[in-house]
Amino acid sequence: MSPEAPVEPVHPTKLLLVEDDERISSALQYALGQRSYETHVVATGGEALVAEPVDLILLDLGLPDMDGLEVCRQIRETSDVPIIALTARGDSSQRVAGLRTGVDDYIVKPFSLAELAARIDAVLRRTGHSADRLERLEIGSVVIDQTAHSVEVDGREVQLTRKEYDLLVMLAGQPGTVLSRAEILEQVWHTTWLGKSRTVDVHVAVLRQKLGVPDLIKTVHGVGYQLVQP
Ligand code: CA
Repeated sequence: MSPEAPVEPVHPTKLLLVEDDERISSALQYALGQRSYETHVVATGGEALVAEPVDLILLDLGLPDMDGLEVCRQIRETSDVPIIALTARGDSSQRVAGLRTGVDDYIVKPFSLAELAARIDAVLRRTGHSADRLERLEIGSVVIDQTAHSVEVDGREVQLTRKEYDLLVMLAGQPGTVLSRAEILEQVWHTTWLGKSRTVDVHVAVLRQKLGVPDLIKTVHGVGYQLVQP
């Protein structure tokens, strides 16, 4: 390679900011740029629905053309992209509850940039969509490579389905924390319908079997599951 050859840039994390208040969007775009996020801004729900794919969407709920809930619902028909809703303090709890089916996190205006950046990082880590960060999680003999979306146990690759993988990443991202079935359903299956609780149990059972590490995922009776660091 000649000395003149361009250095391959690290893929920057791409964000889509859906916000109609230009003072907010331009300030956020600048500040997020300082943190090496590449932020594309649109001011309407309609534009958001036809925008290029990104790593994460910041979605203001008070848009001029469409309800944020509807934008979210339509994005979810075709995409698992992480979404952080920007909600106004006055948003009713019912409205926020409705959104819980589709968004990964919320932040209430006004918020600090540090707070937003922390939410973005946490959501990207949790959902495995982060493209340019340290993406290797090691829990004893289990190694999760979030860039390759692969899992190895003692050097042996384990084939997981998308949901099994997402479930493992969620548990492994918060070792020692007891996660309720409701939290897992919301995060991995994007639903708040507890009638699907059994789905979580079935996936945990399959995950335990495939990983072959019996004590890794502990059942906390009446609550949910916990990943135990060996
Ligand atoms: Ca707005």
